[in-house]
Amino acid sequence: MLGWSINLFRIFGIQLAMHVSFLLLLLFAAWEGWMGAGLAGIGWSVGFVLMIFFCVVLHELGHSLTARRYGVRVPRILLLPIGGMAEFDRIPRQPSAEFLISIAGPAVNLALVALLWPLRSHAIDPNETGIPLAFSEIGNQLLYVNLVMGGFNLIPVFPMDGGRIFRSVLATRLTYLRATYWAAMVGKTLSIMGALIMVFLFQHYLGAILFGFIFMAADSEYRQVLRREEEAVYWAELARRVAGTGAGSSPGQWQGQPPPLIHGPN
Ligand SMILES: [Zn+2]
Repeated sequence: MLGWSINLFRIFGIQLAMHVSFLLLLLFAAWEGWMGAGLAGIGWSVGFVLMIFFCVVLHELGHSLTARRYGVRVPRILLLPIGGMAEFDRIPRQPSAEFLISIAGPAVNLALVALLWPLRSHAIDPNETGIPLAFSEIGNQLLYVNLVMGGFNLIPVFPMDGGRIFRSVLATRLTYLRATYWAAMVGKTLSIMGALIMVFLFQHYLGAILFGFIFMAADSEYRQVLRREEEAVYWAELARRVAGTGAGSSPGQWQGQPPPLIHGPN
C-alpha cells in the first residue's frame, strides 16, 4: 500500500514522495473550502494544507539530516495524509543518537515558533478556520501549526518522536529490549487513553483510529526488537555449542539440539 506514491523532487539528496491518498486530502480540503467560501475558500483551504505539509517536510528533514550524521541512510520522505514519514535504513541503538535524531523533528517546529513569535499579530485562536484577511494572520496560523506539531510529537507515545526520546532515556539505564518494552507499554496505554478521549470527549472517530494505528505500531515495533534479541541469543548460543564441540568436527556434525528461542513478556 505504501508503494502507491508519487515522487515529487529531491531535497538534500532525499527523495520527497507523496502517497496517492494525499491527493484525497487535497480534494477534501478543496471541497471544504468551496463549501465555505467558494474559489477563495479553495485557495485558502488547499494553501493551508500545503503550508502544514511544508512544516511537516521541515520536521522530517530535522530527523533525516541528524540521522545522516550517524551514518543512517535516508532514501525517502513520504507524505501521508496523517503526516510525514522519513524512511531510515536502520534506527541507531546508541541512546544519544536516538535521542538527538528523535528530538530534531519537534525542535525544528519549536524553532519556527520562536522565530514567528515576535511577528504574531493577535492572540492565537485555535478555532480560527476562516480565510485570513491579512498576511500576518497566515503567520499566526503557521505559528499555531508548529506549536501543535512540535508539542504533540513530544508526548511519549511510542513509536512517535516523544516515545523514542523516552526509550532512549530509558535505554541509558535498562537493556534496549526492556527500554522498548516500557516505552511501548506507556505508548500503548496513552494511545488507548487518546482514543477514548477522541471518542467520548470530541466524537472525533478519525482521531481514535489514528491512536489505534499508533497502538499497533508500538506493539509491532516491540515484537520486532524482541524477535531480533531472541535471534541474537539463539545464534550466539549456537556458535558457542559449535565451538564447544572442539576441533576436528566439521560444521553441522555437532551433537545436541539447537537452543529453544527464549520468550519474553507478551
Ligand atoms: Zn517526528
